[in-house]
Amino acid sequence: MYDNRRVSATREGGCSCGAVRYRLTSEPLFTNCCHCLNCQRQTGSAFVVNLLIEADRVELLAGVPQAVDVPRDDGSSQRVFRCPTCQVAVFSIYTRPAVRFVRGGTLDDPTGVAPDAHIYTRSKVDWLTLPESVPAFDEYYDAKELWPAASLERLKAAMTPASV
Ligand SMILES: [Zn+2]
Ligand SMILES: [Zn+2]
Repeated sequence: MYDNRRVSATREGGCSCGAVRYRLTSEPLFTNCCHCLNCQRQTGSAFVVNLLIEADRVELLAGVPQAVDVPRDDGSSQRVFRCPTCQVAVFSIYTRPAVRFVRGGTLDDPTGVAPDAHIYTRSKVDWLTLPESVPAFDEYYDAKELWPAASLERLKAAMTPASV
C-alpha cells in the first residue's frame, strides 16, 4: 500500500494515488506547525505542518496539481493545490505566490522534518502538549526575528520582481 513511500536524500512526496509527485530541491526556508482553525478544518485534523519553500524549488515529477481557492475565516482566500484525481492537497500559497507551503504529511518521510515554530496556538487542541524547545506563538511571528539569516536572504531573492 505504501510502495511509493521511500526515504531519499532529497525530500520527495506526493498524493495518495501517486498521480502527483514532487521533489524539494533544497531544505525549506522554515517549517511552521499551524494550529489555526482554518488549518484544522482544511486538514480535518488538529494542525498542519507546512514547509515554506521557494516555488521554483518544488519540482513536479508527475502530475499537475489543481488550484482550488479556499475561503479563510478572515475573508481572504488561500489557494490550495490538489491532486486532480484523488484530491489530496499537496501544497498551498497564501499572499506570496513565490513561496509554497508544502504539506509535511505528504512527504514520503514525514518524520524527516520537524517544526521550527508553532503558530496560532491560541486554538491548539488541549490534549496536545508542545515541546518547550520549539518557539510557540498565540498568533504569528516576525520572520525577521525568527528565521535564520540565510532563509531571510533566500526569501528576499525569491521576492525580487525579476524572479517572480
Ligand atoms: Zn492523487
Ligand atoms: Zn493555519
